[in-house]
Amino acid sequence: MAVRVIPVEPFDLVIFGGTGDLARRKILPGLYRRFTAGQMTGESRIIGAARAELTDDGFRDMVREAIEEFVPADRRDAASVADFLQHLAYIAIDAKGTSGWEQLGRLMRPGMVRAFYFSVAPALFGDLAERLHQHGIADAQSRIVVEKPFGRDLASARALNEVLARHFREDQIYRIDHYLGKETVQNLMAVRFANILFEPLWKAEYIDHVQITVAETVDVEGRGAYYDKSGAMRDMVQNHLMQLLCLIAMEPPYHFDPSAVRDEKLKVIRALDPVKPEDIVRGQYRAANGGGSYLDHAENPESITESYIALKCHISNWRWKGTPFYLRTGKKLRARSSEIAITFREPPHSIFDDERGWRENVLVIRLQPNEGMNLMVMIKEPGPGGMRLMQVPLDMSFAQALGEVAEDVPDAYERLIMDVIRGNQTLFMRGDEVEAAWAWADPIIQGWEGRGDRPQPYDAGSSGPEDALMLMHRDGRRWRDIR
Ligand code: NAD
Repeated sequence: MAVRVIPVEPFDLVIFGGTGDLARRKILPGLYRRFTAGQMTGESRIIGAARAELTDDGFRDMVREAIEEFVPADRRDAASVADFLQHLAYIAIDAKGTSGWEQLGRLMRPGMVRAFYFSVAPALFGDLAERLHQHGIADAQSRIVVEKPFGRDLASARALNEVLARHFREDQIYRIDHYLGKETVQNLMAVRFANILFEPLWKAEYIDHVQITVAETVDVEGRGAYYDKSGAMRDMVQNHLMQLLCLIAMEPPYHFDPSAVRDEKLKVIRALDPVKPEDIVRGQYRAANGGGSYLDHAENPESITESYIALKCHISNWRWKGTPFYLRTGKKLRARSSEIAITFREPPHSIFDDERGWRENVLVIRLQPNEGMNLMVMIKEPGPGGMRLMQVPLDMSFAQALGEVAEDVPDAYERLIMDVIRGNQTLFMRGDEVEAAWAWADPIIQGWEGRGDRPQPYDAGSSGPEDALMLMHRDGRRWRDIR
C-alpha cells in the first residue's frame, strides 16, 4: 500500500515572515516534502516576503539550509532540493510601509491559486490585510493563513477577526491549529464516524470519564518573554486541547465538510460549563532532576504564570451530562506524551466470582509518540485454575499496521497547507469557534488573575504538581502515567 497523492492546483504562495523561525522549521521543509511527494506541481511558486534585504539566491540558500536541518537525510536528496529551490523567489517587504508591495503585485500570476501565509506577529495581520487589498494583490478567491496565538482573550480575538473581516470573507480565512492536521486527530473522526462499534457507547451512560493529556519535556527557553504573558491555559488549552475535546464530544456532523464539522464543534464549546476554581490546578516547574526552573527564563522573577494546568470540565448536553473531561498539559514534564483516554463504565452486572483482575475498558488514542490506538479489554487469564480475569491491550500502532506508508504521511503543517490550496477549511478554526473558546477561557483566567493565585511548584522532570493528582483522586479516579 502506498500513500495516495493527489496533486493540487498550481499556486502562488506568499509567506510573510518567510525568514522567520516557523517558516524555516515547519512551512518550507513541509513544502519541500510535498514537492518531492509530487503534490506540488511544476508551475507553483513560493515567494518569501520579510523584512531582511535578501536576493532570491540568498533566500534559496537559507531554505536549503533549513531543509538540511529539518528534513531527515534519508528523506531528501541534493537534486530534488535544487529543483525545489527553482520554485522560490524573495521580496523584501515592510508590512507597515510601502516598500516591496508593487513588486509583489507584479509577481502574482493570473490563473493561479493565491495564498498568503501570515507567519508574522499578529500585530501585523491588519497591516498585511490592508496592504494586500490596497495594492490589489489579493483577489476574491485568495486565501490567507493565520497562526496562533489568535488573540489572548475574547476582546483581542474579536478585534483580530474584525481586522481580517475588513478585507477577507470568512471562507478566505484559514486559522491554523496544527493539532487538527495531525494524522491521529483526523483518525479520531474516522474511528468515531466510520465504525458502528463505538458510537452507540459514546455517551455518558457508558463513558465514565475522558482524559486529555499533552505533556511536553521542553522548557520555555527561547520563548520565555512570550510565554510569560501567555501561560499554559492560553498557549495550549484554549486552542489545542479544546479542539481535541470538541472532536471527542461533538455530535456526528451530517457530512464531513467545513460548515457541518465546525457547527458541531461550536455547539460543544457553547455547552461547556464554567470551571470552578477548585477544579483547576496550576503549576510552575522548579529546578530539579538536573533541569532549571521556569523563573530562569521568565522576564519577571516573581512571575505567577503557569507552565502546567490540569482542570475538570463538564459539557451540559444530553450526551455528556455526568461525564467529566479532565484536561492537563505542561512543560518540563517527565515525558513527551500526548493522548486521549476514554474510560468506559463497569458492566451492569458481573457473572464472575473472582473479579480481582477486573479493570475498566479504556480506549487510548496516542497522538505522540508512536501514533496509534490501544483498546484495553478484559480476557481470561491463560491456564488452568478457574476463571480469572486480566486486562490486555488490543494495540494498533499505525507505524506497525501501515508499515512504510506511515513514514510518508504528511505532517500537520504539510497537510494543512495543501488543504489551503485545495480550499478545504474543515481542519481550520472558524472565527466564531475561536471566540466561543475565549468566552469560555476568559472567566477562568480572570478568576486566578483577580485573586493573584500563585501556581504550585512542581519538580522539572516530574509528572506535575501533587494537587493535580488530588483533582482526580477525590473523584475516585486516577491519571494515566505520563511516560
Ligand atoms: P520570527 O520572529 O522568527 O519571524 C518573524 C518574521 O516576520 C521574520 O521573517 C521577519 O522578517 C518578519 N517581519 C517582522 N516584522 C515585519 C514587518 N514589519 N514587515 C514584514 N515582515 C516582518 O517569528 P516566528 O517564530 O516565525 O513566528 C511567526 C508567527 O507564527 C507568529 O505569529 C507566531 O506566534 C506564530 N507561531 C510560531 C511558532 C513557532 O514555532 N515559531 C509556532 C506557532 C505559531
